[in-house]
Amino acid sequence: MSRKVVVDEETCIGCGTCAGLCPDIFELDESLGKSRVIMPEGGDEECIEEAVESCPVSAISWED
Ligand code: SF4
Repeated sequence: MSRKVVVDEETCIGCGTCAGLCPDIFELDESLGKSRVIMPEGGDEECIEEAVESCPVSAISWED
């Protein structure tokens, strides 16, 4: 079973950490200054977990 990862765009400050860590999963929209999930399911969960822990504003979370 694969979990789904989401970014809360309200909270995201567009620092780019998540996209830097997992470029297959997150993409930084430069014009919006927000991160977007480009692979919500089936991505490298260890990398996503690292991004969850590294996000300075805790904007990344798992959704069941
Ligand atoms: S690490 Fe957090 S604040 Fe930074 S771009 Fe990703 S979701 Fe946004």
